[in-house]
Amino acid sequence: MLSFDCQSKGRTRGEGNDALAKKPPPPGARISAELADLDYALPGTLSRRFMRCGKDNCRCKADPPALHGPYLHWTRTIAGKTVTRTLTEEQAARYQAWFDNARRLRELIADVEARSLTAFNAAEDPPGKSSR
Ligand SMILES: [Zn+2]
Repeated sequence: MLSFDCQSKGRTRGEGNDALAKKPPPPGARISAELADLDYALPGTLSRRFMRCGKDNCRCKADPPALHGPYLHWTRTIAGKTVTRTLTEEQAARYQAWFDNARRLRELIADVEARSLTAFNAAEDPPGKSSR
């Protein structure tokens, strides 16, 4: 029995990137290796807070106070507004890695920006060249 694979059409990918592929990897290429593990990253921050409620004679007003919580508040900015969502302990545990990933991404971006600024300054404003 014979079978045929139809591969004659749809070959439009893989062209046009040769020039890019032949360029030497930039000094920061290692960053892509780090990014490979960062498939998910949640924006904002996850904080753990103990709080007082509004009731007058609640245990949270006692001395010493027994505060309510912890409450897990996921805070982020959407269109300029701060939005807070309360997560359960179970949700927080499940998504902790995604918050960690986001922090790692911010660190990586800061690294790349600092290195790029150094490179820019070395190239455009080298020491000894008067630019002022
Ligand atoms: Zn209370």
